Amino acid sequence: MKIINDFNLNNLVRQNIRKLKPYQSARGELNDKNAILLDANENPFKNDYNRYPDPFQRKLKKEIAKHKDISESNIFLGNGSDEIIDLLIRVFCEPGKDSILINVPTYGMYEVCANINNVEVIKIELDTNFQIDTDKILASKSVPKIIFICSPNNPTGNIAPTELILNLLDNFKGIVVIDEAYIDFANEPSFLNKIARFPNLVILQTFSKARAMAGIRLGMAFANPEIIELLNKIKYPYNISQLNQDAALNALKNDKTSSRIIDILKQKQLIISELQKLSFVDKIWHSDANFLLIKFQYHNELFNFLKIKNIIIRDRSKEPKCEGCLRITIGTSSENSLLIDSLKQFEKLKVKSYEKNTIY
Ligand SMILES: *Cc1c(COP(=O)(O)O)cnc(C)c1O
Repeated sequence: MKIINDFNLNNLVRQNIRKLKPYQSARGELNDKNAILLDANENPFKNDYNRYPDPFQRKLKKEIAKHKDISESNIFLGNGSDEIIDLLIRVFCEPGKDSILINVPTYGMYEVCANINNVEVIKIELDTNFQIDTDKILASKSVPKIIFICSPNNPTGNIAPTELILNLLDNFKGIVVIDEAYIDFANEPSFLNKIARFPNLVILQTFSKARAMAGIRLGMAFANPEIIELLNKIKYPYNISQLNQDAALNALKNDKTSSRIIDILKQKQLIISELQKLSFVDKIWHSDANFLLIKFQYHNELFNFLKIKNIIIRDRSKEPKCEGCLRITIGTSSENSLLIDSLKQFEKLKVKSYEKNTIY
């Protein structure tokens, strides 16, 4: 890969986006609560939602900034991280011409969003320990506009070592997106405090996992204000509804996140120790997240057995280097007990008979 030493944001942005005049709401920066609002054709009769929401979610960003100890100008909020992944591709990647680079197996939405936007996807396989292979990434012949690093990675569960990501940030001058959807479950720190050092860095986090708010669809991007401004420029004006802004503010006020994380991590250890007793478990991958990737014998039969027991898990066995692997989210203690009971039942009823008859 060609190493470009100076970072120039303008050169990375699509030409039409550079020139774009964004939609302007007439209300702009208005802060006077007593203003008579006759600009947006809303219905004047009051309920909690008769007005359009703040397009820049200032109240919510102020709270998030406090929680994360960063400036509001470093924050962009999206309708889930998924919206932000799509917006990043749309800001930087010329359809039919530019590419993104992903490290597979990984979260599926990077590729889906790229495909929707007719943007090529360069896929580099993780190594046998599911670590990112920076040499291979930097050796890629075509130069992507964006590299997506998912850390901790979904579905493998492991975090990428800091030195590897730093090496990439030092040597690649396109946009580097680190998707930290599961960072709150990991022992390693976030890259959030490195934004000032790297003008090409974007961090994604979400309310969907550790914050237990997947239902409201709220994703966060953290980056330098120049990148945040580009996202603001192309987003739908009112992308986060008033309902969702209110729910997020409430969740931040009554914050139960840290005790829930402790509970989930304890449950994860418990499940691991139970899994280790089962004869048909081949490998439990190390997890820095709220799920486990496990290699099973008879994984298809197990998947279907659990489905009959009304326990839904995720089949990742078709992903690169994931033969026989299923992904299981850590649930509540009673859900996990039912899972473990079913796994034991599977061993008793099924595995023994498969071994006897060697039916696969
Ligand atoms: C779950 C998950 C997300 C969350 O996406 P939202 O749209 O914010 O719910 C993002 N990235 C990864 C890798 C995930 O696994």
